[in-house]
Amino acid sequence: MSLIVQKYGGSSVSDAAAIKRVAARVAETKKAGHDVVVAVSAMGDTTDELIELAHAVSGGSHAREMDMLLTAGERISMALLAMAIRDQGVGAQSFTGSQAGVITSEQHGRARIIDVTPGRVVKAIEAGDVAIVAGFQGVSVDTKNITTLGRGGSDTTAVALAAALGADVCEIYTDVDGVFTADPRVVPGARRLDRITYDEMLELAASGAKVLMPRCVEYARRFNVPIHVRSSFSGREGTWVVAATEQGDTMEEPIISGVAHDRSEAKITVIGIPDVPGKAARLFEAVAKADVNVDMIVQNVSAHSTGVTDISFTLPKSDGERAIAAINGAKADIGHAEVRYDDAIGKLSLVGAGMRSSTGISAKFFAALRDAGVNIEMISTSDIRISVVTRAEHLEDAVRAVHTSFGLDSTDGEAIVYGGTGR
Ligand code: ADP
Ligand code: ASP
Ligand code: MG
Repeated sequence: MSLIVQKYGGSSVSDAAAIKRVAARVAETKKAGHDVVVAVSAMGDTTDELIELAHAVSGGSHAREMDMLLTAGERISMALLAMAIRDQGVGAQSFTGSQAGVITSEQHGRARIIDVTPGRVVKAIEAGDVAIVAGFQGVSVDTKNITTLGRGGSDTTAVALAAALGADVCEIYTDVDGVFTADPRVVPGARRLDRITYDEMLELAASGAKVLMPRCVEYARRFNVPIHVRSSFSGREGTWVVAATEQGDTMEEPIISGVAHDRSEAKITVIGIPDVPGKAARLFEAVAKADVNVDMIVQNVSAHSTGVTDISFTLPKSDGERAIAAINGAKADIGHAEVRYDDAIGKLSLVGAGMRSSTGISAKFFAALRDAGVNIEMISTSDIRISVVTRAEHLEDAVRAVHTSFGLDSTDGEAIVYGGTGR
C-alpha cells in the first residue's frame, strides 16, 4: 500500500461527465488499497473566465479580491469531485488550501508556499477517506489573507502536499499522455519522453512548456518527490520526472530533451540611453522596484558618434504597463529618449542536458531557423538551453523546424491531445 497524491488539471474536470470519470479513477486507486490525496484545479477555463469577469466589472487593480475570486474556481471542483467520489462508495472530504494547511507568503497572485501543515488531510486519510484539496491556493502566514500561487499553481499544491505527506509518488493528470519533446498542440509528431530529469524539466517548464509549473518542479527537486505526468483520459504510462542519478539505465542520454515555446512575453526597448557606466543598473533597479520579472536582456552596440545605446529586454506581458511606468518614472536618472513596447513576439527554447558536452548544437539550431526563414531578434543561453525571440507569427513554424532538425519527430504516430482548449 502506498500514499499517492493525484493532481487533476482543469481539462480533466471540465464538466460533470469529466468529474465523474476522474472520480472513478480516484475510487479505483483507493479500492486498490492505496491512500489517496487529490489536488484539483478549477473546471475547464474557469480561472480565465473569472479573470475576464473581474476585468468587465472593474478596470482597477484589486490583488486581494482577485485571489478571493479565483480561489472560488477550485472550491467548486473540489466539492463536486468529493460528491462524485462518494457516489463511487468511497469516503471523501474536500478542503480549501487554507484548511489543508497550505501556508504561503503574502504576495497575491504569486504567493510562495512556505509551509504545509496538513493535519486535517492526515486525519481524513486515517479515517479511510480520500482528501480532496483545492489546488492553486493557500493562506498568508502574516496577513491571514487567502492567496493564489500563480497560474498553473495546482501542480505546486500537489507536489507540496506529496512532500509534506511523504507520498510515494505525485501523479499529475492532464490532457496529454505525458511530457513530450514539444507541445503536441503545435507539433503533432512530438515524442513522449519516458523519463526526464528535474533539471531538464525545470528548464522546459521555465521556457514555457506549461505541462508543469516551474515552481512545482523546483519543489519536487528540493524534496526529491517523483512526479509521474500522465493523461486522465487514457490508461497509458506517462513521463517520470526524476533526479539525474535515478535516470540512467541507458548509458547515453539523448542530447536534446525538447523544444519549448512561450507566447506570454513582451519586449521592451529603451532607446537612446547614454553609454556611460551605471545606466543599465539604474534601468533595472527601476524595473526591479516595480516587481517586474525580467527574462532576456540585450544591449546594442553603441555608435561612438552618438554616445547612446539601446537596451532591450523581455518580460511577462502582464508586467508590461508597470515596467513602462517605472522606466518613464526614472527617466531623469536613466536619461533615455524613448521606450518601445512590442507584444507580438514569441520565445523558442531548445533544452537538453547533453548540450553541455556536445559541439555544433548552436550551429544546427540557427541553421534550422535560417532554413525556415525565421528572423532572430534576441538570443540567450544557459548550459542546457538556447533561447531565441522571434516574431510571434513565426513561432510555431520555428518550433516545428527545430524539432525536425534535431531528429525529435516521432516514428510511431501523432501525439494525442485529449481535451483542453490550449488556453
Ligand atoms: P492542466 O489543465 O492539466 O494543468 P495545462 O494546460 O496546464 O493542463 O498543461 C497541459 C498542456 O501543456 C498540454 O495540453 C499541452 O498543450 C501543453 N504542453 C506544452 N508543452 C508541452 C510538452 N513539452 N509536453 C506536453 N504538453 C505540453
Ligand atoms: N486554476 C488555476 C489556473 O488556471 C490553477 C491551475 O489550474 O493549476 O491557473
Ligand atoms: Mg496546468
